[in-house]
Amino acid sequence: MTLALSGHGVESGIAVGQAHILQRDELTIREYRLSAANVESEIRRLETALESSRDHLEKLLNKINKTGGKTAEEIIRTHIAMLSDNAIMDKIREQIRTEYRNAEWALQIKLGDLLNEFRQIDDSYIAGRGEDVSQVFRLVQQFLSSEPSDPDLKRIPERLAQTLVVAEELTPGELALLGERGAAGIITEHGSPYSHTAILARSMGIPTVMGVRRGQSLIKEGEQLVLDGHYGIVFADPEESILRHYLHKQSESERFRKTLQSIRGQAPITTDGVEIKLFANAERETDLALAVAENACGVGLYRSEFLYLQGRAPNEEEQYRTYQAALKTLGARKLIIRTLDIGADKGADLVDFESLRAHANPALGLRAVRLCLRDLELFKTQLRAILKASAHGQVSCLIPMLTSVREIQAVRALMDEACDELRGEGIPFDEKMQLGGMIEVPAAALAIPELSPHLDFLSVGTNDLIQYALATDRVDESVAHLYDPTHPGIVLLLHQIFKAAAVAGIPVSVCGEMAGDRRYTRLLLALGLREFSMQPRSLLSVKQMILETHLGSARKALDTWLSNHSVNPEISLINLLDQSQFDR
Ligand code: PEP
Ligand code: MG
Repeated sequence: MTLALSGHGVESGIAVGQAHILQRDELTIREYRLSAANVESEIRRLETALESSRDHLEKLLNKINKTGGKTAEEIIRTHIAMLSDNAIMDKIREQIRTEYRNAEWALQIKLGDLLNEFRQIDDSYIAGRGEDVSQVFRLVQQFLSSEPSDPDLKRIPERLAQTLVVAEELTPGELALLGERGAAGIITEHGSPYSHTAILARSMGIPTVMGVRRGQSLIKEGEQLVLDGHYGIVFADPEESILRHYLHKQSESERFRKTLQSIRGQAPITTDGVEIKLFANAERETDLALAVAENACGVGLYRSEFLYLQGRAPNEEEQYRTYQAALKTLGARKLIIRTLDIGADKGADLVDFESLRAHANPALGLRAVRLCLRDLELFKTQLRAILKASAHGQVSCLIPMLTSVREIQAVRALMDEACDELRGEGIPFDEKMQLGGMIEVPAAALAIPELSPHLDFLSVGTNDLIQYALATDRVDESVAHLYDPTHPGIVLLLHQIFKAAAVAGIPVSVCGEMAGDRRYTRLLLALGLREFSMQPRSLLSVKQMILETHLGSARKALDTWLSNHSVNPEISLINLLDQSQFDR
């Protein structure tokens, strides 16, 4: 019998497949100490896991050979060769012997080192091999976790294609791991559509529903599921008619995706001739290539914190190389690097995240620029790396969570110090590199006349701005229904921002999720937005909306709403804007 469960839709696709109930410890790598007497048996455990991994890949190779998949065959052969690479494996054996730690942990440490080395190689093909190494190491870790010496660890399904993962809650890193393994859909009991985990799900294009209460106990392992990410519904054991309906919808949305391809080469211009600039947000390295493929003007928000989420702060050289590689992928396009924004729902091992969490209101606490201005060494390292990268292309620097002029002055003072050092060391950088500020705090939104003389551009982070203005935690699903980008207070606040920016003559863009949601495209255009930055997968659908908008009519509809909404609070601004396009 069909069981319908509801939550918050995150990524609007449809997924059909089998349920896998994710246990808490499936995605974690256990670390434990060994006694000296157990070291050699741990090495044997590693050897057995290596052997099992090789066998597994050989079997896979036979299957692929039969179906003639040439590229897949090459990939698997590379993976088998890695398993026999003694230069790598000897280091892991040595780690176990000298550090007295378990094999899963030794693999994890080596994996981190290798990925860092790869990132520094100035060749996108070799840098991309990091993914192969990760897959091979994870395979060995899975075999290790099914070994009797560590019975608590359950095996992570190795391939998750056609599998919908049902989790209690996921961090962005865990979601990325499930995405890499090909999960067809994600269902979580907790989480909200504006959390960073949700942003990542959208960026990876994984249909996701969050906040499905008791999902893990109501859904059975292996049961057939249908997930509708648009309406935030999950059907367990769906009856035939529901299944047919969704399979049909799935092929329709595939068709819509294909029709969008026809506008790929077109410039985003409204029907009354106003040209709009579309930029991409980058959460992960792969977003850069997507941004180029989708003809974005560049990257309007490079969330640099993803470099810090690997357990330690990247050093100056590592960051510099990463930014340089990003510029290489982007060619002549612009790259706006946002400085480290961690704290609140974004953690990293380099700060004592648990202690940050322990504060009563982490979202109002030490995060983003506040944290950076507390750890000046960490911050200056990043500023130096960004400045060095600016010698190689169009780089700008963007500061998150600004509240006051004093903060901008502190950033500028540190930046001046970094510039002086680089000059002294004879290292080139762009002397005119632009400094922008994110408008995410309502008080900053109202203080644009004061802030803008100290900045070169503004970028509105609607995700945080809305949470702070509506006093609605972006990660708390119990108030997700209150998180409304069309709340009159938000529309008026945005109106005020664009007006103040125009008066100050400072360029302004929007890089929050609102910019990538086509339901709000006309509203943002009418408010005066001309530069959008969004996850690259949304670029085409937002462009299509721009191509179908007469800006003059949308602006008139907004004016009508501005002068009437207090008299008639029931009028829907979004409907008014859509209607304006037909009434011309
Ligand atoms: C925002 O707040 O809108 C934003 C773009 O920053 P983040 O989502 O990374 O906090
Ligand atoms: Mg933000």
